[in-house]
Amino acid sequence: MSRNMATVNENPRQPAPSHFMATSGAQDPVWIHTEPYSNRPRFPALDRDLDTEVCIIGSGISGIQTAYELVTRGHQVVMIEARDILSGETGRTSGHLASSLDDGYTNIAQKHGDQGALYAAQSHSFAIDRVGEIVKKHDIECEYRKLPGYTISQWDRRKQPKKHDEDVKMLKEEVVKAKALGLPADFKEGFSVKGWDGEPDQRDAAVFEGQATFHPTKYLIAVLNWLKQQPNFTCYTHTRAMNIAEKGIEIGPIGTKSVEIKTLAGHTITCAQAVEATCVPLQKLSVIAEMEFDRTYCIAIRVPKGSVEDCLLYDSAEEYKYVRLTHCDDKDDYMVVGGCDHKVGQEEPIGRYKEIETWVRERFPQAGSVDYAWSGQIFEPVDYMAFIGLNPGNKHTYIITGDSGNGLTHAVIAGRIIATTIEGKPDAWASAYNPSRVTSLLKSGKELLSHDLQINAQYKRFLQSDIQDIEDLPNGEGGVLNPATKSPMAVYKDDEGKVHKFSALCPHLKGVVCWNRSEKSWDCPVHGSRFSKDGICVMGPSKGGLNAIDDSGKASQQEAMQA
Ligand SMILES: Cc1cc2nc3c(=O)[nH]c(=O)nc-3n(C[C@H](O)[C@H](O)[C@H](O)COP(=O)(O)OP(=O)(O)OC[C@H]3O[C@@H](n4cnc5c(N)ncnc54)[C@H](O)[C@@H]3O)c2cc1C
Repeated sequence: MSRNMATVNENPRQPAPSHFMATSGAQDPVWIHTEPYSNRPRFPALDRDLDTEVCIIGSGISGIQTAYELVTRGHQVVMIEARDILSGETGRTSGHLASSLDDGYTNIAQKHGDQGALYAAQSHSFAIDRVGEIVKKHDIECEYRKLPGYTISQWDRRKQPKKHDEDVKMLKEEVVKAKALGLPADFKEGFSVKGWDGEPDQRDAAVFEGQATFHPTKYLIAVLNWLKQQPNFTCYTHTRAMNIAEKGIEIGPIGTKSVEIKTLAGHTITCAQAVEATCVPLQKLSVIAEMEFDRTYCIAIRVPKGSVEDCLLYDSAEEYKYVRLTHCDDKDDYMVVGGCDHKVGQEEPIGRYKEIETWVRERFPQAGSVDYAWSGQIFEPVDYMAFIGLNPGNKHTYIITGDSGNGLTHAVIAGRIIATTIEGKPDAWASAYNPSRVTSLLKSGKELLSHDLQINAQYKRFLQSDIQDIEDLPNGEGGVLNPATKSPMAVYKDDEGKVHKFSALCPHLKGVVCWNRSEKSWDCPVHGSRFSKDGICVMGPSKGGLNAIDDSGKASQQEAMQA
């Protein structure tokens, strides 16, 4: 195979334990090509108790954007992060800023009514522009640009005309709905994307003008560097929140409550308001039970500069492909293509990148080498809208979760809603995103039930063993050893053959984790918590990691945390 056709490596070597403090998988995302991990600002770990007005937990786009909106309004903000900044899904995103929503306005209106769909359309349009305003104000070089977004049928219009026509009908309905909500949408017959010269001969598209894209970590690092200079902002990394509880009594306007956040190192942060910007909230059930958890896969493949139209592109498949371009070097751009989603811990990751690569090569014959391939996690609320606002049952603890594939714009919306609400002002969009909403969730009873059954079925892993003997494990792999008489053990053998052992029970609700060969992680099929090969928690709702049960397991956890 010639160099420019280098294909994807689906099963990399195991990285050092510290790698999982920078990102949530063994595979690196394309963003480090022009913005390496070493460019990310560093902050100390919290080494004492402290008081602040607002404590934000998590330093992805939700945390940083909310901090920005609060700090610019004059509030005192402390942000804490369990690992390094941007180590969560934000560092592994694909970076579409879209008001053409993944779930579609027709579906959203069925659950939330036309008013809810209108708020969704308005708020995502706001988010696209808000990022543009911040980019302009702070002169941030991050490839931010407005682009059209195209959604096309997944079917060949000549070979599968019936299915193609069904898709076209659905796309046309979505355009009509979006137009009625004031969005610049249109349906273009005979449309084709410049540079799509291969098969299938794809025509016709729903076109949304006014979408945008950017380099996510360049943007957020610049915002964070600005925040770092503000007297009312402080950040602590390697500081993991283990417990978040409201203290005191408050009945109506009488009394005051504060929030106490306990960290893994034993320190307490006391604040008037807390924001869980942890991608998924750190709780047992509540909104956790109202979401599905999926892995999604991306590759960055070279295409000669100018050979493919600069646009956002999606197809109509259930596990749809999503496409955009980003700068690679003087000669090439990277085409970032994602898709092939599946439920966390329930399917084999190997083969997904290859499938995406084949999809690209069939359609874009000019594509060159695949230089990056990585996966990440997304969350689907059963009623399609993110959960942004007060955590159910709390008065001063906010959550931001349920990205629905549009987590970047949701994060920007969250920044506005939470800052406005903390100031005691009304926000028109708050009700649509309210985590305690009832009506749309009641309308989703059927989906909730089948989701519950699916989740509970994952406890079957209590009766299964991936390996019968540690000897059977090849170097560089992991598996669960489930002796009938003892608790299941998560075992991995490093590339040199040394064995490391952990409890296989997820600390969240005791699901038995699965080995993810591609990302060298342990993934819980019950509620989507994930842990590095060394048991470090890289995705909630679990707050903590897997218990190490031998000295080499403990040593690799120590090495990660001291990085
Ligand atoms: C491959 C992929 C492609 C995507 N593409 C798009 C797209 O094109 N457009 C779009 O809008 N959305 C997209 N999304 C979704 C979007 O990227 C995410 O929804 C968004 O980045 C989530 O940001 P966040 O800040 O909420 O969470 P994160 O970025 O995950 O940040 C959460 C942070 O909280 C920290 N944390 C967790 N627990 C604790 C704790 N106990 N104490 C302290 N800190 C803690 C984590 O370490 C992490 O750094 C995509 C997602 C993926 C994975």
